[in-house]
Amino acid sequence: MSQPKGTGNFKFKAEVNQLLNILVHSLYSNREIFLRELVANASDALDKLRFQQLQGAEVEDLPLQIDITCDPGNKTLTVADSGVGMTREEMVQNLGTIAHSGTAEFVKNLSESTSAEQTRDIIGQFGVGFYSVFMVADEVAVTSKSVNDDEPAYTWKSNGQGSFSVSPVEGEVGRGTTIRISLKEDATEFAQPDRVKSTIRRHSGFVSFPVMVDGEKVNTVAALWREPKFQITREQYDEFYQALTYDTEAPLDVIHLSADAPIQFNSLFFVPKTSHDLLMGGYQGQHGVDLYVRRILIQHQNKDVLPEYLGFLRGVVDSEDLPLNISRETLQENLLLQKISRQVTKQVLSHLQKLATNNSETYEEIWNQHGKIFKLGYTDFVNKDAFAELLRFNSSHFDDDKGLTSLDDYISRMKEEQDEIYFLAGQSRQAVISSPHLEMLRRKGVEVLYLFEPIDEFVMDAVGTHKEYKLVSAEHADPAKLDKLPDTEEAEAAEQLSDEQHATFEGLLSRMKDILGARVTEVRESKRLKDSPIVLVSPDGSMTSSMQKIMRVMSHDESTPPRVMEVNPDNELVRNLLRMYEKDKQDPFVTLATEQLFESAMLLDGYLEDPHGLVNRVRQTLTEATKGKAE
Ligand code: ADP
Ligand code: MG
Repeated sequence: MSQPKGTGNFKFKAEVNQLLNILVHSLYSNREIFLRELVANASDALDKLRFQQLQGAEVEDLPLQIDITCDPGNKTLTVADSGVGMTREEMVQNLGTIAHSGTAEFVKNLSESTSAEQTRDIIGQFGVGFYSVFMVADEVAVTSKSVNDDEPAYTWKSNGQGSFSVSPVEGEVGRGTTIRISLKEDATEFAQPDRVKSTIRRHSGFVSFPVMVDGEKVNTVAALWREPKFQITREQYDEFYQALTYDTEAPLDVIHLSADAPIQFNSLFFVPKTSHDLLMGGYQGQHGVDLYVRRILIQHQNKDVLPEYLGFLRGVVDSEDLPLNISRETLQENLLLQKISRQVTKQVLSHLQKLATNNSETYEEIWNQHGKIFKLGYTDFVNKDAFAELLRFNSSHFDDDKGLTSLDDYISRMKEEQDEIYFLAGQSRQAVISSPHLEMLRRKGVEVLYLFEPIDEFVMDAVGTHKEYKLVSAEHADPAKLDKLPDTEEAEAAEQLSDEQHATFEGLLSRMKDILGARVTEVRESKRLKDSPIVLVSPDGSMTSSMQKIMRVMSHDESTPPRVMEVNPDNELVRNLLRMYEKDKQDPFVTLATEQLFESAMLLDGYLEDPHGLVNRVRQTLTEATKGKAE
């Protein structure tokens, strides 16, 4: 048995080779990112130089820009900047120590008096971005001349396999850093100017210094989202939008937001004039905003900042608080991003509310284009009130489907004593209008919102109440409650049934129940009908008929839901049947008519299974009717 050894403190040991390997191959899911990192470093170096100039340092007057040169013949790519450069010592320190960021140190060393504003554009902070170059490089040579030192320029060289060399450069070298990359066999595409330009446009299109590829300026559009709102014209916004989306039409609206606390972000959103690209390209894949960290793109079509129902917006979100070296996987879980999302969502909704109030025409145009997607917001309980206020509806208040109302406008038109908001769902305006469920509401002059899309009832359900008024389907409207409201239409009051007739009517109802059997749960007198002879309603408190239909489709249920048949004693046809029934309790025509009325209602509700019986009965009825006339 060996003796137990004493306690001790140990340092982790690292195989630098392997560590570099992991770093290079797992930090980024996309190889072209190395260019973004090199451009970001160059931009930082230029920023530092500008900063020193501001502090009063005398520096040689060179254009502050980033020059990229492609050499497909030699399979090399060169990235040069006229920034601060590095001394020999700095190169050893910054490029030779993994996870050492000279930039972070620079920011830390700035005196306390320096305002955050001045360092706002500086990107680097982790000291790992540079190594991403080894995803594409066999060998990298960094030649640098520091602005702060008289020593000659040095070249740092490495193949990324764990060692590097540093040697002085003969002759004159200008200020700044030049990175020469010998590309791997499978990465020679990065010596092609077109490939490089498109990569720069995609990831670094908004860097604040000119980025030149073989002498051509590639970043031509300004990062408008970081500029003060009052300085930007509508033309500039439109131009930016078109550069961003390739949309040929100007946007309907621009939403430019910025915040400093608790989290810093700038965002610029646009409402496209048409939603066609979203719908045709498949909404799921297409939507999303571009996420930037200090002008550098970190994710295209990010779907976490804006909730799905605001996904019709296109645009950009930029935050200084997000780390640049963040992968897609960790983005989703990023708490900061969630905070930004909450803020952005609130502010977008309140912007839209203001627009709806001040410029209802534009808002309605937005609604007509994007309302379908917006309705998905019924699941956002946090912003329920704002969501409800932004909804628009077709309504009995208007003569056609062009008119739109908000819930608030509906409330302003409500009858005295009315304490519920009524709606009715159906396939089309025509279908809704002919529903017997509207008769009583129409007689009372009560407005009804018309819903034509399956999602609408989920929306109504989720909203539940608005400003203390319950949203109620006309199918569930309480006749007793409505009866208290005064009639607005001149109703030709039908002659009341005598007590005796009423007793016979009760008999007719139970005869009808016998005829229909299990197809209805009940046959009863209707209090809600004015014109129609009958209406089918759901047993009290159950779902509306259209909701039932959706549920049945979802659960593959083919049975017919339970129904109550209500009969209108004031209807002429019903009165005729009543007289026939009075004479002959078993009159076969009463059977025929009852079947026919029931099936016609089922047909309108979309539940008729067998049209043959119905058609046969129509013929039979016509024969009966013509017999009398012909004789
Ligand atoms: P980060 O940018 O997060 O600090 P990098 O790995 O990208 O980390 O870069 C490491 C360091 O190397 C930087 O902090 C900076 O000090 C130095 N550096 C890299 N590129 C340049 C450059 N073009 N000019 C001057 N210094 C640079
Ligand atoms: Mg960097």
